[in-house]
Amino acid sequence: MKKINLKLHHLIISVAVLAFLLTIASSLWSSYRTNTQSLQESTLETNHAYAQKLAMTANDYMKETLQTLNISAEEITAIFDDEDKLLHEADRVKNQTNTFNSVAIVDSKGEVLATSPQSLDLKGKTLTSNAIKEAITQKKPLISKPYKGITNRLLIFISVPVFAKEGLYLGLIGGTIYLKEDNVLNEVLGEHFYKDGSYVYVVDNDGRIIYHQDKSRINDVVSDNKIVSEMLENHSTGASRLINSKGKDMLAGYSYISIANWGVVAQRSTEIALKPATNMVKQMLYVALPLLLVSLVIILWASLKIARPLQQLATLTESSMKANEEKNLAQVPGWYYEVIQLKKALIQSLSFLHGQVSFFMDQSTTDPLTGLTNRRTLNERMQKWTSGNTPYSIILIDIDHFKSVNDTYGHGVGDEVLKFLALKMKKATRANDLCCRYGGEEFIILLPNTSATDAYLVAEQLRTDIERTISPTGENITISAGIAEYPSMASEPATMIGLADQCLYEAKEQGRNRVVMAKEIFIVL
Ligand code: GH3
Ligand code: MG
Ligand code: MG
Repeated sequence: MKKINLKLHHLIISVAVLAFLLTIASSLWSSYRTNTQSLQESTLETNHAYAQKLAMTANDYMKETLQTLNISAEEITAIFDDEDKLLHEADRVKNQTNTFNSVAIVDSKGEVLATSPQSLDLKGKTLTSNAIKEAITQKKPLISKPYKGITNRLLIFISVPVFAKEGLYLGLIGGTIYLKEDNVLNEVLGEHFYKDGSYVYVVDNDGRIIYHQDKSRINDVVSDNKIVSEMLENHSTGASRLINSKGKDMLAGYSYISIANWGVVAQRSTEIALKPATNMVKQMLYVALPLLLVSLVIILWASLKIARPLQQLATLTESSMKANEEKNLAQVPGWYYEVIQLKKALIQSLSFLHGQVSFFMDQSTTDPLTGLTNRRTLNERMQKWTSGNTPYSIILIDIDHFKSVNDTYGHGVGDEVLKFLALKMKKATRANDLCCRYGGEEFIILLPNTSATDAYLVAEQLRTDIERTISPTGENITISAGIAEYPSMASEPATMIGLADQCLYEAKEQGRNRVVMAKEIFIVL
């Protein structure tokens, strides 16, 4: 498994950058939300107002159209059997009103008496469409549903009845609007800014499209569209966001045209309407980018500045296991509370640790009573010299009749005598020599690059010094010593000590207070 080596400054930078990005994202998101909301509201409002205006215009226009037809119907009464005049009137109505694609005057059986234009060639023919039949039956002004006329065009027929003076029903005069061709609805509803995704359509009472910018949509039934059904059912006006019959998200305003039982819908694609919000976010980012980059650099700089002291403390703590870093630790810039405290604690604990370590080091190499090195160091040193072929000699020392010192003066004085001897040993030897307490009241002096003869001299000097000095007992004491030399007399530390011990034994045997040196070839028994 790979070791994860996360460092504090990575964490601080990550958290800071994350917070920074989240702040930007949330502020962009909230301004985007606010913006889309207000865009949506204003688009809905605009479309609503627009649909209302169109409905009103269409309503007025239809009313006027019906009035024109009514006036014409009154005039026709007098000329109903004069074909020429009827033709003339049909032309007049068509050309003057400019509302209809064609005008027809029909008798009470549905037979065409006159048309404009005459090119339709319908004169004398009987119209059988439901729209005509309904108009004849109802004998009142009528705006038909869209249907395919005798000329095979999709059209609506707007007609008023013609009555004779005494009230007899003569027939009707009516005009057509060809839904799939250029017609008056185009003019009434005006040209729209289709390119920006807005458009207008008009439905009849059944929810059938009778006007649409896209002519192929005309005659489609969209009664399942929720605003169309709402508008036609409740004759209402309003605005709403919806998914249209093509699955597109739309912001629509709608209004009912009461005179014709139609409805007009003005709508705009939501996507297009809300696009400025996206652009605004881009714009905001673009304007803010230099500032953002500067902030990012400041954040990175600040993160590093915060993390650096802690990082230095961590690194120095790590290396302080190997070397003394207290001085370097003191130089770490402590410019905030945590670092100051941490630094203080580290320096304190490190100096404590180092004190402890040197204390224990001394403890492990020094004899606490005499301050001389102990047996462990002695062994190490002899081993080292032996393996390095350094010639050396040893002096093994034992106090004579020490038991009686203890017995006569007590253990405490005995200890003082041991210390006294240690001092004398130190005095008698050179700096390179090693004075050890071998155990109890036995001592060893290691003398590097020293022959047995020279060691003998040192031992003799020590012995005579002791013999002549008043010891802590208040009386003189004596010592005996044995001497051996490496490598001429023994080749191992253990045999060296054994040899020196033999000599010491001999010194005791010979009456104590003397030094015995081993012979060059000495057989250890
Ligand atoms: P010899 O001349 O044959 O050496 O006679 P000795 O009485 O010195 O005999 P030995 O060397 O066997 O005696 C060692 C004595 O040293 C025994 C013990 O009471 C005493 N001793 C050992 N270590 C200490 C110590 O640390 N302090 C004191 N006060 N006495 C110690
Ligand atoms: Mg002894
Ligand atoms: Mg002794």
